[in-house]
This record gives sequence, C-alpha cells and structure tokens, in this order.
Amino acid sequence: MTQADIAAQYQAFKQLGLKLDMSRGKPSPAQLDLAENLLSRLDGYKAADGTDARNYGGAVGLPEARKLFGELLELPAEQVVVDGASSLALMHDSIVFNLLYGAPGHTPWVGKPITFLCPVPGYDRHFAICEALGIKMVNVPMGEGGPDMDLVERLVAEDASIKGMWCVPKYSNPGGVVYSDAVVSRLAAMKTAAPDFRLFWDDAYRFHHLGERKLTVANIVAACAAAGHADRAIVFASTSKITLAGAGIAALASSPANVAWWQKHSSVRSIGPDKINQLRHVRYLKDAAGVAAVMEQHRQLLKPKFDAVHAQFQAVLGGIEGVSWTHPEGGYFIDLLTPPGCAKRTVELAREAGITLTPAGASFPYGKDPQDRHIRIAPSFPSLEEIGQAARGIALALRLAAGK
Ligand code: PLP
Repeated sequence: MTQADIAAQYQAFKQLGLKLDMSRGKPSPAQLDLAENLLSRLDGYKAADGTDARNYGGAVGLPEARKLFGELLELPAEQVVVDGASSLALMHDSIVFNLLYGAPGHTPWVGKPITFLCPVPGYDRHFAICEALGIKMVNVPMGEGGPDMDLVERLVAEDASIKGMWCVPKYSNPGGVVYSDAVVSRLAAMKTAAPDFRLFWDDAYRFHHLGERKLTVANIVAACAAAGHADRAIVFASTSKITLAGAGIAALASSPANVAWWQKHSSVRSIGPDKINQLRHVRYLKDAAGVAAVMEQHRQLLKPKFDAVHAQFQAVLGGIEGVSWTHPEGGYFIDLLTPPGCAKRTVELAREAGITLTPAGASFPYGKDPQDRHIRIAPSFPSLEEIGQAARGIALALRLAAGK
C-alpha cells in the first residue's frame, strides 16, 4: 500500500464514526456475566470456624478464603491475608506501611531517599503509586524471561536506597513476559545493599491463560526462604479478572513475619474486611479446579479478541520495518512497538478516528518512553467485531504516523 492508499483508508475508517475506549484492560460485560452465580450463592453466613461473616473481625480474612488463596498461590494458608477487593490497594498499603512504620526490625523509609526498580514496559498504576509517594523510579529493561538480571543485581548490590522492585511475574502488563526459573532464583538470592529490600510480586495474571499451555512461574516466597531472605517477597493477587473487577477479593502472601507485620498495621485502619464477599467467593469458586474452570470460560471469550488483533496487525503492519507486537500466552495486553518516535502520534491519530488508547508512554515511569515506541493494546472490553475494527484503525494510524 502506498502512503496515499493508507491515508485514504484512514479517512474512510474515520468516517465510520467509531467510539471505542480501549484505554484500560477491563473485563467485558460477557466476562462479568460469567460471575452471575456468585451473586446468588450465599446460603448462610457462618464461616468454617463459626465466624458470623456479617459481623466485624477476621482481620486477615476467613480461614476458607485464606485456604483458597493458599491453594492458588501454593503457600500455607497461614502465610496468606485476604483483605478487600483490590490487590493494588494492598500494594499501596504495604509500601505505605514500610514508609511509615518500617519493615519488621527495620526503620521507616520516610525521610530517606527511596528508589524502586521498575522493569519496563510495566504497569502504569505501579508507577503512579511511586510517583505519589515520592519514590524515585529506575527503569530496568525487560527481556524474554524477565528483567535484565545482570543490571538488577548490580544496582541492588551497590545502592542502599533501592528498597523495592515491581514484578509482574506472569503475562506481564503490557509485554506478556513470563519470568524464567533462573530469573526467579536470582531475584531470591541476590545480595542487596538494603537489608529491607522487597520484591512487590504482583501476580495479577497468574490464572489468565490465553493459549492451551498453562505456564507456571517458580514460587518466589519459597525461593526467597530457601535463599535465606524469607521476608523479601510480598505476593499480591485478586479475583478482579476471575469474578468481578472492583467487587472481587484480594490477597497478599509472604513470610509469617511479614503476615504478622501486615496484621499489626492494617488492624489500625480497619476492624475487618468484607467477609460476606469472601464467603460468597469461596462457595462459588471452591478450589483451584473451580478457578481453572472459570478461567477457561474467560479464555474462550478473550482468545478470539487477541486473535482478531493479531490478524489485523498482520494484514496492515506485517513486514513494516521497525514495527512489531507481542503474542502473549496470557494476560490482558498486547504491546505494540512502533518505529522510534511514532507512538504518541499513532495514539493521537487513533483518537481522532474514535479509538481511545492508553496514552503513549504510560507503560514507563513518569510517563516517559525514552524511544516513544510502545502502545498498550487492551483487547478485552470491546466486542469481537469492534476489536477487529479498532485494531485495523490503530494499524492504519501507525502507518500514517510512521510514513511507511
Ligand atoms: N496489577 C496489574 C499488573 C494489573 O494489570 C491490574 C489491573 O489491570 C491490577 C494489578 C489491578 O488489580 P486489582 O483489581 O486487584 O486492584
């Protein structure tokens, strides 16, 4: 296609008058409908230990909810806290607790220069937490099996201000990267100048497979314990994209010392979580097999949408120099790479054609993609027909922006 053809097709696309918001990876209404039974599931309010779920208490979650997440995360229930509906809120609070109170046996971070390592591209809301709390962020490039570990090991060994690192170990947002066993064991074993260094292990997409292969990632809490750094990793997960986004249940898992630390500080801010929702979730999902069955239904809805994006991108962008996109085996995103300097313009042109995308640069700390190349594509929310159209519009916008 010549540039004139591209321009004509883009103009024709604009005339369709599409209005699509693809800025976030939200579940579609059809996915939310899968959880219909969740809402009519509660027969009785008594938990396994006799707790009346309607009343205050249960700071670390109902025993059966801790057991469910323990089974899902492959950790003892005693090392799991189930609290609230948002894992992001638990991440935020665990950082705030470090800032205000310090980790067990350590001084608070507040008032000192604090740095987090941020594998890029990464999740914009992780970076927003750091920015809001005054934590400096340092980019670490992502490779095929996880972050560049030579760089990570060097940085954490020499800089005691590096207190944390964001990790989305499976089907990362947005690159779909899955951490290799070697990366997990190096993260667990590496020497850090800061004795209270923490891995913020966001397992948001642990169950969210798109392909037939169900990839697994090594157990970071066990690896850290085996390496003599039992308190290093804090794992986060939720059912936001298993049941209901915003009305699911969220969990944190770590060493016994970190769980006790969490309980001490979180009990100041609440007399107990919503245990009705926990009970309802346990009765609906039951166990790991129950979760896997629900996730297969999500996969059936999501996979064709990812395939539609790949097909349109291949048709319009295949073979164009400097353009590539990821083919994730799970998660919610495709990372589209434009030639250097073209991502912002592509997003702008897509918006003019009625498609709202995540702002270019959002997958980088401070919103700055040094090469202006990455665009996060979120295929989940639009209908199958819409997503195909949108992918074509985005691809045409990219070719126009790149002049290729
Ligand atoms: N972590 C990652 C990597 C995500 O992509 C998202 C949502 O898109 C979340 C966390 C949000 O999780 P929650 O709904 O449990 O707060």
